[in-house]
Amino acid sequence: MSGQMRILVIEDEKNIASFIERSLEASGYEVVTAFDGETGLEILAASDFDAIILDVILPKFNGWEVCQQVRQRLQKDTPILMLSAMNHTNHIVKGLDSGADDYLAKPFKMNELQARLQALSRRYRRQTTAPSVLRYAGLEVNLEAKEAWREGRKVKLTIREFKLLECLIRNPGKALSRHELLEKVWGLDFDTGTNVVDVYVNYLRNKIDKGYPNKLIHTVYGMGYILKENHDASE
Ligand code: CA
Repeated sequence: MSGQMRILVIEDEKNIASFIERSLEASGYEVVTAFDGETGLEILAASDFDAIILDVILPKFNGWEVCQQVRQRLQKDTPILMLSAMNHTNHIVKGLDSGADDYLAKPFKMNELQARLQALSRRYRRQTTAPSVLRYAGLEVNLEAKEAWREGRKVKLTIREFKLLECLIRNPGKALSRHELLEKVWGLDFDTGTNVVDVYVNYLRNKIDKGYPNKLIHTVYGMGYILKENHDASE
């Protein structure tokens, strides 16, 4: 395990909560425990965890309600492993519907719980490693919303212009050849014999750089284009 993982345990049965806490701490996790749903949500609102172990039957908000609030009100996608003695299919479905990622029936074996936790956090880390917002020199590109901003001003782009900008901002300071851009933005691995790249770079310049004293898109003569802050050796 790289780095210490923080786990929040929300479980009102104190002996089970302390059993989970001791076992996880012995395995190198940092554990915080809450004995009711409301307290669990307060802790979650104030701090981030790598995973949540959540009992279903709890005082002050049951597990399903906590789950929904974590996803909807707190807008957190922290992995949630639900625990319940009610091992019925409809309860499992209800748990997953309310936003839980996995479900473990009581009584459970500690190694089973740890295996599930590991699997959940691996998936979570994989999803969160790629940033969805790229920033460079006052330029901001949101890959999920497919929106671009320059100095806080929204820039309207076509899909192709957006892809071109995405390609440039993923490689700031690196000269990209026309061939590379054709391949990455248009999916063509041959020279079309057209000036399509230059045409689109011009469209993009009009939207990104026009009116700003500090240009970001620069020509690399005989080669292609580069996204960078200062323009020596170009234009
Ligand atoms: Ca309980």
